[in-house]
Parts: sequence; C-alpha cells; structure tokens
Amino acid sequence: RTLEVDLGDRSYPIYIGGDLLKQAGAYFERHGLTKKSPVLIVTDKNVAPLHLHKVEASLQASGYRTVCHIVEAGEPSKSLAVFEQVMTTAIENGLDRKSSVVALGGGVVGDLAGFVAASYMRGVTFVQMPTTILAHDSSVGGKVAVNHRLAKNMIGAFYQPEMVLYDVNSLQTLPDREVRAGLSEMVKHGLIWDEPFANWCGDNCDKLLALDADALEYGLIQGCGIKAKVVATDEREQGLRAILNLGHTLGHAIEATGGYGEYLHGEAISIGMAAAALIAVHRGRDASLYEKTIQLLKGFGLPTAMPQHLKEEQLISAMMHDKKFTENKIVFVLPVRIGEVEIVSDVMLEEVRQVIAELK
Ligand code: NAD
Ligand code: ZN
Repeated sequence: RTLEVDLGDRSYPIYIGGDLLKQAGAYFERHGLTKKSPVLIVTDKNVAPLHLHKVEASLQASGYRTVCHIVEAGEPSKSLAVFEQVMTTAIENGLDRKSSVVALGGGVVGDLAGFVAASYMRGVTFVQMPTTILAHDSSVGGKVAVNHRLAKNMIGAFYQPEMVLYDVNSLQTLPDREVRAGLSEMVKHGLIWDEPFANWCGDNCDKLLALDADALEYGLIQGCGIKAKVVATDEREQGLRAILNLGHTLGHAIEATGGYGEYLHGEAISIGMAAAALIAVHRGRDASLYEKTIQLLKGFGLPTAMPQHLKEEQLISAMMHDKKFTENKIVFVLPVRIGEVEIVSDVMLEEVRQVIAELK
C-alpha cells in the first residue's frame, strides 16, 4: 500500500507492506535511482544480522553497488563523532552527488543517516527503511539530526526522503518492550487527531501487540497518515505541528530525570499523555477523558503512573530546562476529547505539580 506525503512543492511515497526489503532493488529502479553511483546503507548492530542481507541482496541483484556502515545500537550513535565516521565511509567509497543513503533501522539510524544524506555533498538522495514501530513517527516529517553533548537533536536539518520503504515483516524481530513503546506514538496519533482510529487501536491492542501483519499495516498507514497530514500543513513547526507533542513536555522530563535509558521514549510519553489528560480534567473536561486515555494506554501495557522514585522537583526543573516558563506558566498540549487536542500557554507550575503528585 502506498501513502503519499504531500508537502505542497514536493511529495514522496511511503510504501507499507510485507517483505518490501527484499524488493528494495525494484523500488530503487522504479524511482529511477542510478546504478552508476554507490548506495550507502547505514544500519545498527542489532538490525544488521537480522535484515541487512535482504536489502543488500535485492539491490545487488538489480545491479546496484552497495556499501554498508554499521553503527552501535542506541542513542549514543546519534553523535557528531559517528556522523563523521559515516562520512568517512561515504568518501572512501566514492559516493557522489547521484548516490543514495539508506537508513535501515529505527529512529536513531533514521535521524543519523538522514543528516548524513542532507549534508554529504550538500545533499544526496535519502531512502528510509524503518524497522521499528516508533519509526512510523520519525520517518515521516523530514526532521533529521544528531545530538550535542549538551542537548538532544540540536544539530540537524529538515530533509525529506525520496521514499519510505516500510517492511511490516521486519518488525517481527522487535523486542516486546520496543513494540509497546512504538505503539505509544501510534496511540498518540489517534488521540490528537482521529477518534475512530484511537478507538480502533483500543479494540485491536492484542492484535497489534502480537504483531499481526494486517493490524500493523493498517495501524502504520493511519499513524503515518496522521503525522503526514499534520506535517503537510506545518512542515517547519510554526504552529499546528506542536500538537504532535502531546505527552512530550512531561515525557521528556521523565526521560531526562530517569537518566535516558530507564524509560523508553514511548513509555515516558505514555505517562505524559496520562498527565495531560488529568490536567485537562482538572481544568473542567469530563473525567471520562482521563479514564478513557489511561484505559487505552494500559491496554498496551504502557505505564500511566508517575514513577515513585522520580522527585517532583527534578521533573519540574527538567521541564524548565526543556521549555520556557514565563511567570510560572508553561505551554502544554491538552486533550479536548479523544481525537482532539488544544495548545494552551497558561498551564501553571502548580497544576503540573499537583498532577505529578496525584499520578504517583
Ligand atoms: P532505535 O533506533 O534505537 O531502535 C530501538 C532498538 O531496537 C535499538 O536497539 C535497535 O537496534 C533495535 N531494533 C531496531 N529495529 C529492530 C528490529 N526490526 N528487530 C530487532 N531490533 C530492532 O530507536 P527508535 O525507538 O526506533 O527511535 C528513537 C529515536 O528516534 C530517538 O533518537 C528519537 O529522537 C528519534 N525520533 C525522531 C523523530 C523525528 O521526527 N525525526 C521522531 C521521533 C523520534
Ligand atoms: Zn515522540
């Protein structure tokens, strides 16, 4: 199945289906990518033994010359040091302006390889092959980046891929915890935009957790589609795109105070989404909004309570680092109902404190 991401002046397709990695060569040909220039595949040490051979074999069978660069798995690979190593591989192997860079992996590889593609010779063709559920979020929208020692995603670009090749079968090898964390962003897309889809997620959580191919395909198409619609109206994050941050204000603080690694991103934003719903209820929304939200998240085995050992003060100060407080007020994405959110700029520190305490 194909979903077109339309950004006005240009568009690109997201192909979603089974065994697409084995057809990589055919998709490259369909997009007219030259066989004269080498293709650089960037992947990580977990993904390489599981899926790299399929992409390599398919591209080579179609007559492409491939070069691979395999990084350590995990967030530390989103660094300038690793970026430079990938660049070295690209230069040493003679990649030129007509070359393509392929990201085969999760969001870490996608962000890193995307930034390489955006920078190498001022930009070469970029192809995303996401292998995590979370990457349905990171592979749409064109944000690519590496981290700075002092701050996450600080060095990057907006750079759109030529195509996204989403092989649902490649998700079968994901560890269970990564599955749940990825589904958290899928649920988020329902919560911010699409009530029927949020309900569908709730009704199909068992199938999704069991990695049922049809359910995954449908969920990824809907999730990517919602992200694509939001991004299409606001590619450079001027306004509407901020609704994608539901659960992220507190989520980032939880990740930061948990020392990155204790909570996966999807787990942290799950707690953040529960908190946002509770703040909204305190501000007058119907109590069922909170109940429905946590029921949905719990169905996926995601956490909805504030971890006991995280100190309120630490969370608040992490939030203050992340976001600007003016006169004790902070910008928050709050649910209006399931499927709709609003951006409010006057959430008081005190309201956040209260919710942190209540969710413990
Ligand atoms: P990840 O890339 O680290 O992947 C998670 C883990 O799963 C890793 O250990 C990886 O090796 C492993 N893995 C990946 N695919 C696998 C497979 N098919 N089988 C077995 N193991 C597999 O992390 P992620 O959760 O995919 O992405 C998180 C990153 O994405 C963060 O750096 C975040 O900043 C970024 N992100 C970017 C955007 C964006 O718009 N660019 C949006 C959201 C998140
Ligand atoms: Zn996120």
